[in-house]
Amino acid sequence: MNKLYKSLVYDGQVSLSVLETTQLVQSAIKIHNLADGPAKILGEMLTACAYMAGCLKSERGAVSLTVKSGGGSATVSVSGDAEGHIRGYIDGGEGGLKGGTLTVIKDDGFSRPFVGTCELKAPDVSENLMQYFHMSEQIPTAVAIGADVQNGVCRAAGGVVMQLLPGTSEENMDRAEERMQAFVNPTKIVEEYGADGIIENFFKGETDRCGLYMYFPEYKCNCSREKIAGVVVSLGRKEVEDIIAEEGAVKVHCHYCNRDYIFGEEDVEELFGK
Ligand SMILES: [Zn+2]
Repeated sequence: MNKLYKSLVYDGQVSLSVLETTQLVQSAIKIHNLADGPAKILGEMLTACAYMAGCLKSERGAVSLTVKSGGGSATVSVSGDAEGHIRGYIDGGEGGLKGGTLTVIKDDGFSRPFVGTCELKAPDVSENLMQYFHMSEQIPTAVAIGADVQNGVCRAAGGVVMQLLPGTSEENMDRAEERMQAFVNPTKIVEEYGADGIIENFFKGETDRCGLYMYFPEYKCNCSREKIAGVVVSLGRKEVEDIIAEEGAVKVHCHYCNRDYIFGEEDVEELFGK
């Protein structure tokens, strides 16, 4: 089962998140029929998104992360909401990430969305995410997440994220930094311990004091025939009828769940009325 634990540790000065997203990544592999290289990148991005969705402060909140890697080598788009519904897709990525940009749009549902962009400096998602938090949100963040995919199977995905809250003492910074050393190879730890075991073995006593919050992220697209119909209607009746006359149907593809929505002649009345 996918899990996200959140807690404050080290005298309540460090925000800890522990993720286990193996099944979430496996769902993505199945839906998109991904090769191992792209699956690893998308899996790590989905895991990052699950983490950031868990940090949203409003029920109506949503977050999206987009990677455009150098020379069109990969485009990755993931998004999630406060309910923990995470989805995404990848184009390319066989050769890993080669520079480019990461853009994060965070909408807490209150005011204007926050938009942050940073350059991709490293081939792995964790490094780039740390860079993003440092540059765009000015929050010292340690990220050790990963997705281990072999022969179409996600063996383990997840990891640990720690953020220093304002005013963290030197001593607690050191404690956080030292603890993070255990997660140099996050997928190995996730495979061995799972999210529960990580809490139990690495943070026991700490999470007891401040309380432990639990979330269950899952791969879920929020598209529906009704929503897509709304988009089709916005084209206007004439346009829709023209497309149907020419191509037989209006076909709308959802990249996130790899599903086609087809509207034919018989649907025109339902869309626009008689
Ligand atoms: Zn969809």
